[in-house]
Amino acid sequence: MDLTHRQEQIIEIVKGNGPITGENIAEQLSLTRATLRPDLAILTMAGFLDARPRVGYFYTGKTGTELLTDNLKKLKVRNYHSVPVVVNDQANAYDAITTMFLEDVGTLFVVDKQASLVGVLSRKDLLRTSIGQQDLTDVPVHIIMTRLPKIKYCEKDDLLIDAAIKLIENQIDALPVVSQDKQSFEVVGRLTKTNVTKAFVELVKNDHV
Ligand code: ADP
Repeated sequence: MDLTHRQEQIIEIVKGNGPITGENIAEQLSLTRATLRPDLAILTMAGFLDARPRVGYFYTGKTGTELLTDNLKKLKVRNYHSVPVVVNDQANAYDAITTMFLEDVGTLFVVDKQASLVGVLSRKDLLRTSIGQQDLTDVPVHIIMTRLPKIKYCEKDDLLIDAAIKLIENQIDALPVVSQDKQSFEVVGRLTKTNVTKAFVELVKNDHV
């Protein structure tokens, strides 16, 4: 994040004199406390300074990279996932391909009659089936999907970074976001590599670091 000249001055004062009150920082800059308030709020939110009630401001000593890491570790799956696109386990491969095109997704989640997750279908699963000779309307998705318990999934409250690690380690494009109910999984979202990329871009654009 680009700091203003005044914000840099504040950091230098706190570095040298912390813990120091807002009043005292203002005095040193010959400004009023009210004038400084937005700068102090920004520096505290961005993590450069720490404010303790009745004590004052401390310099956290964190580098830009450490602050970026801190912010990354706060992101949750619930704020970044997309809506899930599901097909019934009785659907056929032709239907699944059509759904992929119509919904513009690369991964479909397969659910049973009770709407519980039973499988995952990717582009390659369907391509593999398509290069065979059979009529795609004769191939039920449940015979070509990746099924439980092999499915990697995440939950809304998981950290985005943990979900991203699962995508990378398992070399897959998407995770179903599930809500667990006893033994079954309800699909409540879809977390893709695109979602993670968007979060990364947003983090830089918002410039919280
Ligand atoms: P693509 O087939 O387009 O390269 P993936 O890399 O996501 O897409 O899928 C590769 C394989 O991993 C496929 O066989 C797919 O069924 C399986 N797969 C995809 N997502 C998951 C998941 N969340 N859990 C387990 N297996 C998955």
